[in-house]
Amino acid sequence: MTLGKEIDGKAFAAGLRGRIADIVPGFVAQKGRKPGLAVVLVGEDPASSVYVRSKGKATVEVGMESLEFKRPAMISQEELIELVEELNADDSVDGILVQLPLPKHLDDAAVIATIDPAKDVDGFHVVNAGKLAVGDPTALVPCTPLGCLMLLKDELGDLSGKEAVVIGRSNIVGKPMAQLLLGESCTVTIAHSRTHDIASVVHRADIVVAAVGRPEMVKGSWIKPGATVIDVGINRVPAEEEGKTKIVGDVATAEAINHVAAITPVPGGVGPMTIAVLLRNTLVAAHVRAGLPVPE
Ligand code: NDP
Repeated sequence: MTLGKEIDGKAFAAGLRGRIADIVPGFVAQKGRKPGLAVVLVGEDPASSVYVRSKGKATVEVGMESLEFKRPAMISQEELIELVEELNADDSVDGILVQLPLPKHLDDAAVIATIDPAKDVDGFHVVNAGKLAVGDPTALVPCTPLGCLMLLKDELGDLSGKEAVVIGRSNIVGKPMAQLLLGESCTVTIAHSRTHDIASVVHRADIVVAAVGRPEMVKGSWIKPGATVIDVGINRVPAEEEGKTKIVGDVATAEAINHVAAITPVPGGVGPMTIAVLLRNTLVAAHVRAGLPVPE
């Protein structure tokens, strides 16, 4: 049996960052300033700190301004909302990202709701979620699902009429992913923890997007031969070597590779796309706010 292809998200993301870096100087020439991305980090969570550092580095590498706002875990809801309001009012800030999850005493939804939707480069504000739902092209779309869609279109071209199954219904991945696929005229099914006989639901799909958070849950035998699979999952599990860990996705790739036409590896598939799309969303927000035509 021939093995399916691995989709190289790392290379695609590098290409996207390169295209963004080519566009930034034109913005700077017209507006006399760089597009600016403000990232707010509350507390010392190690994983969040790593994400924020990588975002800052990638922002600077494409020629944009990275502004980091680190606040102690003890910050009050009022103080955090005040910070977001200051960033809303700051004209040099085009994108605002509040790194989630926030410490327990803070209300994620209330903080996100405070972000100016025009600067909501994570696409989590209800205004942007609503725009995506009604097919408004000015929506800022959550980075991970938009990155998945870019990889799918690059791999398959026109998605119209394809059967797509999205596993997971979170507001940050599953639901926006389903909306995006519907926007491409796929026939979309959303599976979740209450779905009966998920194996046969997945088996009818030409496109499978797994966003569950359960290591290698999707078995090779679930996949229709020739399907394209996007594995969003990032799960840390014990490695073969004693005391070490490794990252695996939501799909049992070693089995699935015998069934699929193409699949994203973990790591190196969807992961690198998320930050690249964040930069793309910041570039788009900067152009829209400046009244400039949105770059392709
Ligand atoms: P959530 O925990 O918010 O959502 C998980 C979804 O999976 C829920 O809708 C849940 O269903 C569903 N689910 C859980 N168990 C099962 C099951 N046994 N069968 C079917 N469905 C199930 O996770 P996220 O959407 O935030 O993230 C999903 C994965 O993607 C995680 O591994 C996360 O680390 C990864 N991720 C990766 C990113 C990247 O950049 N590559 C970015 C964001 C996330 P129900 O609603 O019924 O509970």
